[in-house]
Amino acid sequence: MGYSPVALYFGELATRDRLHRWGVIDCATCVLCTTFDESHEHLFFGCPFSTSVWHYFLVKNSIHRPCFPLLNAIQWIDVHRGGATLQTLLALVSCAAVVYHLWRERNRRIFQGMSSTPDQIISVVASVIRGYVKIKRRQHLVEKEVEPIFSKDDMKNGPTTEATCPNCSFGKAVFQQLQIRSADEPMSTFYWCLNEKCGQQWRED
Ligand SMILES: [Zn+2]
Ligand SMILES: [Zn+2]
Repeated sequence: MGYSPVALYFGELATRDRLHRWGVIDCATCVLCTTFDESHEHLFFGCPFSTSVWHYFLVKNSIHRPCFPLLNAIQWIDVHRGGATLQTLLALVSCAAVVYHLWRERNRRIFQGMSSTPDQIISVVASVIRGYVKIKRRQHLVEKEVEPIFSKDDMKNGPTTEATCPNCSFGKAVFQQLQIRSADEPMSTFYWCLNEKCGQQWRED
């Protein structure tokens, strides 16, 4: 994930109101809504086009601030950077990805004459977020796999099954099914080889 709204540094972006002031273009109208003048504030937060994209992600992240002004947004992002729960990270990634894709959409319209609808941008941003969640889950699993999920009692009392150990090819293992991914995905099965000399643990999704 290379998107950082802070790194994007809004102040450096040559929005059309500036280009117009500098005499580079004749018309300062926002290309997303074709109604208002384009400034940073308008483009990212005031524009009806941007607002409809934001709305989706604000609701999704349970953020009940409709369209916070630019500076507040940057402060909000910086303040929340430290105490990063997954939920906070997701809100951050959403903000960064929305800003990035709004800016990208604006540039595609100006330089390539191509345009997407707010819904199309929402689905691109949503897939960026899903990718991010997958990476985070995988990192979490890697950490998790270090700690054994079976107790000594499981070895004696846990349900057993015929499963081939990937380490010693022994045919019996204790198993346990756990929901470690999202609720709509199948459970993962964890195995513990019953060959006492081996004790290999492995997982099947
Ligand atoms: Zn606009
Ligand atoms: Zn084994």
